[in-house]
Amino acid sequence: MYYLNPKTIPMKKKNFDMTGRPVKTYKLGRACQHCGEPIADQERASKTHCTRYKDEFGVIHDCKRKKHQLKHQLEEDVLLDWCALQRENKKRIEDIIKAHGDEVSLHVLDAFNVILHNGIRFYQRSGATVVEFLSYNIIVKPKSKIFKIEKHEKLGIRINGRLAA
Ligand SMILES: [Zn+2]
Repeated sequence: MYYLNPKTIPMKKKNFDMTGRPVKTYKLGRACQHCGEPIADQERASKTHCTRYKDEFGVIHDCKRKKHQLKHQLEEDVLLDWCALQRENKKRIEDIIKAHGDEVSLHVLDAFNVILHNGIRFYQRSGATVVEFLSYNIIVKPKSKIFKIEKHEKLGIRINGRLAA
């Protein structure tokens, strides 16, 4: 066996400041991905965020965690917007049925701002395309200018097991 004597390992030359701490440089221009605080060149190459620390009030500052929370929050907001749109679509479809019944033209869908592309799901059934919305399907038959609206019994939209709409 061969053991390295730590004293024989050559030390990398470092510059030190007046208090004896190594001088930090920022020539690489690295910065925290969350708050933009510069990251010293002397930090390890994989470092992408500020070091987690507890401040004088006992509050933990954790830029890496904050960035992930924020990203998750943004994704959640997009999903909630989408759910709000689906609730709105459901209301519009109900307004259509009240005013025009359950067989309508594209003109009526347009007038009530029900856009087929905004459906939750699309699938084929007996040669027709089923556009699924919250509580209702709109059936698009080839070569037909009439769209049939039918109620379905699916229970809302779930996100992460939670009923979102
Ligand atoms: Zn930071």
